[in-house]
Amino acid sequence: MYDENNVFAKILCGEIPCKKFYESDYSLAFEDLYPQRKIHMLVIPKGKYIDLDDFNANATKEEVVDFFRAISEVSSKLKIQAMEGGYRIISNIGANGGQEVPHLHFHILGGERVGRMLAPKTG
Ligand code: AMP
Repeated sequence: MYDENNVFAKILCGEIPCKKFYESDYSLAFEDLYPQRKIHMLVIPKGKYIDLDDFNANATKEEVVDFFRAISEVSSKLKIQAMEGGYRIISNIGANGGQEVPHLHFHILGGERVGRMLAPKTG
């Protein structure tokens, strides 16, 4: 069940601030509070979806199209598309995926070489 008190729900209702970078009808992009690379942006749907599987199962086609296009609107605005160096998107899902905030989000990482896809496994 969707947790109405998660931090991104609070950003969406204006309860806590964010550094907004892009907004469309159904999506919002803002800077990650603890950037892990020179560019670290988060893209989220405005609707209440826990993760990508919840989104694909329950979102409207308009929401899905808007969300995936929002990612490229952001990468275009940031000038990090493939010809400009490229970037990585990551979406963590559930406990094994390492998801901390239970509202669907894609991380956009770039502005420099992001590095190996996965760090060596520890623990
Ligand atoms: P994940 O582990 O995939 O759920 O990622 C959650 C991300 O949200 C982390 O990269 C956090 O740094 C980021 N984060 C947590 N709180 C905030 C906030 N208030 N504003 C922006 N980003 C946040």
